Amino acid sequence: MKLLNPAVPPQTIYADRLKGLVLDWAGTTVDYGSLAPARTLQKLFSGARITLTESETRQHMGLPKKEHIRGILSLPRVRNAWQELRGRFPSEADVDEMYRQFIPLQFSCLAEYSALIPGVVEAMQSFRRRGLKIGSTTGYTRAMLDLLVEKSAKEGYSPDCSLTPEEVGAGRPHPFMMYESAVRLQVYPLAAIAKIGDTPVDILEGLNAGAWSIGVAGTGNMIGLSLEDFHALSEAARESRLADARAELQNAGAHYVVDTLAEVHSVLDDIDVRLKTARESH
Ligand SMILES: [Mg+2]
Repeated sequence: MKLLNPAVPPQTIYADRLKGLVLDWAGTTVDYGSLAPARTLQKLFSGARITLTESETRQHMGLPKKEHIRGILSLPRVRNAWQELRGRFPSEADVDEMYRQFIPLQFSCLAEYSALIPGVVEAMQSFRRRGLKIGSTTGYTRAMLDLLVEKSAKEGYSPDCSLTPEEVGAGRPHPFMMYESAVRLQVYPLAAIAKIGDTPVDILEGLNAGAWSIGVAGTGNMIGLSLEDFHALSEAARESRLADARAELQNAGAHYVVDTLAEVHSVLDDIDVRLKTARESH
């Protein structure tokens, strides 16, 4: 026996407009270039006598920090360098020890790289005018994020809620921080929420939740330069770096990619139209 009710639309269209956004922190709303975690990881590994390249440092960005360290230690080049120095490959105990050392190092440079990305305050004001609730997620720990939340509030950015991996049992690419954001924001269904972030795992977090996923290519991890350093590049170099960054986020599955959060409005208009059209066309 199988009863299909043709009057009931597919589950995917139970949203007629966007009601909430969930924003990433480093590289999306604060810390242009996502420099704080990158510089800290490089310092951590140089303490272990391994010099990380920019790409080795950044390819696992967005994961919870301990998993990020484990990811770096699992790279063949890093494993071999570790083995050459110590006569054995890195173990889980080494991940624990590196993470233990990482925490105070990260705190010592977090405040230095916590400034809001230009345009974020104005973008927030217009999100509010659209009636959107604003959540936020991160790969930082709660203690680290508290520092950013407090500093950002003073600069004019205060999301309605913020979540860290430890509060929901797992970080990106799992969707649980998104689910909890929906609960805290009192917004549903997940198709009425868009996740915005600067790394491939941000994109996956949104997709895995059944939300819209929007990548930010210019201000975060995929370029990895401060505003000053980015502007110091030639126009051709800037365009080429941007094209690579956009492509990587698209390849991760982003529904849309923009260069900065300030440019996201026309994407939100677009999503609203697509939600409305899907609903009406059923
Ligand atoms: Mg980020």
